Amino acid sequence: GGESTTIGKLMVLYGLDTAIRERVAAGMPCFGTCAGMILMANEVVDGLPEQPRLSVMDIRVRRNAFGRQRDSFEARIEAPAYGEPLEAVFIRAPYVERVGPRVEVLGTYEDKIVMCAQGSLLAAAFHPELTRDRRVHRRFIELARAWKGHALHERRR
Ligand code: GLN
Repeated sequence: GGESTTIGKLMVLYGLDTAIRERVAAGMPCFGTCAGMILMANEVVDGLPEQPRLSVMDIRVRRNAFGRQRDSFEARIEAPAYGEPLEAVFIRAPYVERVGPRVEVLGTYEDKIVMCAQGSLLAAAFHPELTRDRRVHRRFIELARAWKGHALHERRR
């Protein structure tokens, strides 16, 4: 999380965008939360024009979709794939307006999509690091463990 335009500019400055995109293409799992979800989206509404991004997920994301900073909130979201609902902290959060055919919806709040996956890519509009529930991170760790590309990058170093 953070501020997606700033993160995007820094990614380009340090070449991190290309490095991440290459690894994602090689199957590396990647998890974007909030601003990270914006960075992973193919399409962003209400972003700055030409806002630099990774553009690795077939989703359309609306920035600051729930309002301003003071409209930040905590809520239980529906997440059937995780069993019980999840407690979620939304900080000037985006939501997903459209998902492509390869995208699985993992979490909804009211009628809004707030968490989704595309292969080994995960995106959440909320901040799972701010609650004690570890289910969201656990799923990501499982994806990371399953990735066979580790050896490749070990050798490169
Ligand atoms: N509003 C921020 C943005 O548009 C995201 C906020 C967050 O990451 N908590 O980039």
